[in-house]
Amino acid sequence: PSPLGPTPKLVIDLERLAQLPKEKAGALARYAATIQSQRGDYNGKVLSIRQEDLRSLAVIYDKSPSELTEELIGWGVLDPEARRAVESF
Ligand code: C2E
Ligand code: C2E
Ligand code: C2E
Repeated sequence: PSPLGPTPKLVIDLERLAQLPKEKAGALARYAATIQSQRGDYNGKVLSIRQEDLRSLAVIYDKSPSELTEELIGWGVLDPEARRAVESF
């Protein structure tokens, strides 16, 4: 096992996401809303997503998963810890 502990989860900050301009974050916001709806999970300030979903989002944003992760960290939507979650890709 890694000395840093288990692979961190990808946790989207929904409050931060809601503050961002639609041109940037619209696709991610729609994706997150779809997951919330499928889970019936509407009350959270954060949403844990699948690693597989980050791959899909990277295709949507026409970036590599690690490039998209950096962008989302820059927006304040993902914690910098998320970098370790995509290293295993
Ligand atoms: P599903 O993929 O067939 O999953 C059925 C149920 O298994 C989920 O019901 C959940 O209780 C559990 N489950 C599956 N994978 C995981 C996991 O990695 N972690 C946890 N904690 N539980 C898991 P739930 O949550 O009501 O979701 C219903 C359906 O909504 C899922 O059916 C899936 O089709 C979709 N869904 C929900 N969340 C996500 C997501 O984050 N990404 C994607 N791609 N689909 C999701
Ligand atoms: P954690 O995964 O570190 O999550 C900490 C807290 O962040 C959760 O406290 C919850 O308030 C929030 N959170 C994280 N992801 C989501 C999300 O997708 N939706 C919503 N609405 N909130 C989220 P909570 O609920 O008291 O859970 C405490 C701990 O219990 C979690 O820590 C986790 O270790 C465990 N847990 C809760 N639900 C699940 C689950 O579906 N699957 C697994 N494997 N563990 C869970
Ligand atoms: P988690 O619940 O702590 O699950 C951690 C990892 O265990 C998941 O990473 C996945 O690889 C595996 N896992 C857990 N439950 C299942 C399951 O029912 N089926 C399968 N095939 N694998 C499972 P992953 O996929 O990257 O998901 C990360 C986190 O996203 C999960 O942490 C959970 O908090 C959330 N999540 C993902 N899918 C669902 C879902 O369908 N429903 C809900 N409520 N939460 C989900």
